[in-house]
Amino acid sequence: MSFNVAIDGPAGAGKSTIAKAVAKRMGYIYVDTGAMYRAMALYMLRNGVDPADTEAVAERCGGADITIRYEDGVQVVFLNGENVNAFLRTEEVGNATSVVSVIPRVRKKLVELQQALAAENDCLMDGRDIGTCVLPNAQLKIYLTADSGVRAKRRYDELKAKGQECDLKKIQADIEERDYRDMHRETSPLRQAEDAVLVDTSKMSIEEVIERIMELCRERQ
Ligand code: C5P
Repeated sequence: MSFNVAIDGPAGAGKSTIAKAVAKRMGYIYVDTGAMYRAMALYMLRNGVDPADTEAVAERCGGADITIRYEDGVQVVFLNGENVNAFLRTEEVGNATSVVSVIPRVRKKLVELQQALAAENDCLMDGRDIGTCVLPNAQLKIYLTADSGVRAKRRYDELKAKGQECDLKKIQADIEERDYRDMHRETSPLRQAEDAVLVDTSKMSIEEVIERIMELCRERQ
């Protein structure tokens, strides 16, 4: 049986940085489910579909063929055969993503893909509903969070480092709006699974968080 770790939490809690590092050190694959939802949002934006138009998104989502491959341990997302990794991590796509991801048909399609990956591989999967819906039987569940001010500053530094122009206040407002939508949607809202370990990273360094999660992985394995 494969060993599955589920990591959930709000935007900017450090999930992908931590998950990537732990997966590498423990020899698991890292499944970034946010990137799959982002690819779906990108498809809608590129095709002129308003992400908030639920019916149009539900109707068109069948046209987005999203697949995942691993190249040198890095997850590459293909949208209808095109490697779209470079287009996924903008604020525009991030905000559209939390709008399209409320749609049940979108979730069903992507959850099936995620469950198939977890059944075949030892993996660490991050997202919003992994411990609660996608992998309810994961051997380890973690809820990773931090203050919204700390999370906004991290996102700001990340975007700045990539040379993107950004405004800290706007990022914090976007993060809070996105959290609200993710936590209050009807289908698979973001919440801490009952059996998840809470890790608040507000005052922890990246290395401390990685160590803590690796310790939990070793305990459960
Ligand atoms: O984690 P990331 O910021 O890439 O996720 C982008 C958006 O995708 C989230 O704000 C959320 O709306 C959606 N998402 C989701 N379920 C997941 C992963 C991401 O609804 N498992």
